[in-house]
Amino acid sequence: MSSKYDAVIIGASLGGLSAALQLGMKGKKALILEQHNLQGGLATSFVRGRFEFEATLHELQSVGTENNPRKIRKFLDEAGVKVHWIQVPEAYKLVYKKENINVVMPYGIHKMIQTVEREVPGSKEKMTALMKTCKEILDSMNYFGDIGGADKLSKLELLKKHSTFVKTAGYTAKEVIDTFNLPKKAIDLITPYWIYVGVPLSRLSFTVWAYLMADYFEGGAVVCAHNSHALSLSMEKRAEEMESTVELKTRAHKILVENGKVKGVRTDKGDEIKCNHVICASYPNNVYRNMIEPIEEVPREAIKLTNARRIGVSAFTVYLALDLPPDKLNIDSYSYFVADTMDTDKIWENYKTIEPPNYITTIVLNKANPKCFPEGTTEMSITALPKADGWMNIKKEDYMDVKRNYAKAMIDKMSEVLDVDLYEHIEEIEIATPETIARYTGSYNGSVYGYEHVIWDSLVARISKEREERYIKGLEFIGAHASIGNGYAPNITSGRKAALEVLKDIKKGGE
Ligand SMILES: Cc1cc2nc3c(=O)[nH]c(=O)nc-3n(C[C@H](O)[C@H](O)[C@H](O)COP(=O)(O)OP(=O)(O)OC[C@H]3O[C@@H](n4cnc5c(N)ncnc54)[C@H](O)[C@@H]3O)c2cc1C
Repeated sequence: MSSKYDAVIIGASLGGLSAALQLGMKGKKALILEQHNLQGGLATSFVRGRFEFEATLHELQSVGTENNPRKIRKFLDEAGVKVHWIQVPEAYKLVYKKENINVVMPYGIHKMIQTVEREVPGSKEKMTALMKTCKEILDSMNYFGDIGGADKLSKLELLKKHSTFVKTAGYTAKEVIDTFNLPKKAIDLITPYWIYVGVPLSRLSFTVWAYLMADYFEGGAVVCAHNSHALSLSMEKRAEEMESTVELKTRAHKILVENGKVKGVRTDKGDEIKCNHVICASYPNNVYRNMIEPIEEVPREAIKLTNARRIGVSAFTVYLALDLPPDKLNIDSYSYFVADTMDTDKIWENYKTIEPPNYITTIVLNKANPKCFPEGTTEMSITALPKADGWMNIKKEDYMDVKRNYAKAMIDKMSEVLDVDLYEHIEEIEIATPETIARYTGSYNGSVYGYEHVIWDSLVARISKEREERYIKGLEFIGAHASIGNGYAPNITSGRKAALEVLKDIKKGGE
């Protein structure tokens, strides 16, 4: 390893790799330490038998099309990262048997509103107003990102030009949606995406929900031709071409701090790397409790804030390789949300337990990418987002049973939806629990979504306070637990954002 890097990046996740790309584009080089033997973090794949499974990606937002690129595609193109994107065919199919709902929701705000109008006649005007509100928030947020933060604007400018954003920022998704007086069925049809942030609508910040809705419905979504791991590999390749170094199987053990400033990193192999900047994908819970050396350098406020934040959901996924093509299994959609209830508070309570999940999300990758699996077979993954709570106290001897029962309930549910006995067609099966995620990525309590986006800790609150909350000079956080939150696109943006802070500091003379 070279002895001098402009930054050490902890974690070769999408955030870590995009930070290295952003630094590389300005001629700076980073050392990326990754504890695992693969790059990409959750953006990965795995092989069982003759199948390579996508590990996590259902749909990636903010990419757009070649003719109408959005911010992630623009950034990766600019960085020279080559990815073969494939458009996802439709937003989702909602199957909510109790209310007789079995509806495919298309992408495109206009088409989506038409679909809701078809199912709930008379809702068009209110839906148009709601989606206009969401779109205004998306545009404001993207504008703030482009100019380097809403704090660059005067209060007057903010109020005049971004009034929808200002008016709604202090409210939950439920509070704002309720003001549109939509019939319950219309709300059911448009709220499945809450699971992509994993906070019930009664507590989720409206800003976050609105951004998600407008971004997905306006811009559509993509997957990668050779799974999300192809994206991780392409990003790593470009980062290395720009002279960053990726060290796999190397855990950052300690972040060395002196007088409130980063001085270096020590790996689990005992190597010490001097640096003034660390960009870190490990959770603040780990960093402030175990990684800062000496411990006296951990500010009290950092511990207080970390303790106050609530860790978000984890994930449970059943991966199936089925021995027939989708059309022989009655599969007509790419993405299914299957609900016993659309009351997100009830789903939330259920997710705290190890009871069978009452809300699942399933993708059939073949419907976007027919070449994902060998011909004549189907790749299906079924996911629920349990909190770690229920998984904390399972005895070792009970773990396999709990895992199998949970998975069985999910396969049963999809068998019922498709009216096919899926068990008859399983060639390979794998199951990932919150334990698997914690072990694989080292994430705190197996969290995949960072901290909950509740009002006091929403994106808006975080971004407005983040300068004051940089407790150790030279230490930037990236990933689901950073300000922007979870998801592939936010993760890439968080890496860029952290790198821009480092570049700013270097420019000011911080080396
Ligand atoms: C089943 C599932 C489906 C999902 N589907 C989607 C989807 O469709 N669309 C979407 O946008 N998002 C999706 N997500 C969410 C998305 O994957 C996550 O929000 C995001 O990738 C989390 O990124 P992260 O950087 O926080 O964590 P990770 O991707 O876990 O990255 C952290 C990295 O840091 C490394 N690391 C940690 N500590 C250290 C250390 N001390 N030293 C060295 N390395 C370290 C880890 O090994 C890991 O590689 C899904 C997640 C799951 C689990």
